[in-house]
Amino acid sequence: MIERQKDCFVPCCDYCGKRLAPETEKQAAIDKMKLAGWNSPKIGGHINNYCAECARYLGVERKPAPRRPYQNNHGSRSKKWEN
Ligand SMILES: [Zn+2]
Repeated sequence: MIERQKDCFVPCCDYCGKRLAPETEKQAAIDKMKLAGWNSPKIGGHINNYCAECARYLGVERKPAPRRPYQNNHGSRSKKWEN
């Protein structure tokens, strides 16, 4: 969760309680979590925030940036070699 304090927002892991440095704006706190590899899966209509370690442990880690899965120009060539 993002802990609302008097004049700042503190990203807080819902599993281990680890915190990141406070931010004065909520969006900055969210951005900071993303940069740190945290993930925020929605479970049962409730958004949970997990640090990178807990997200990995719980199997809900943030998906890595989309990668091009296959280089098709190589794929067609290797097929020819199999034949
Ligand atoms: Zn954690």
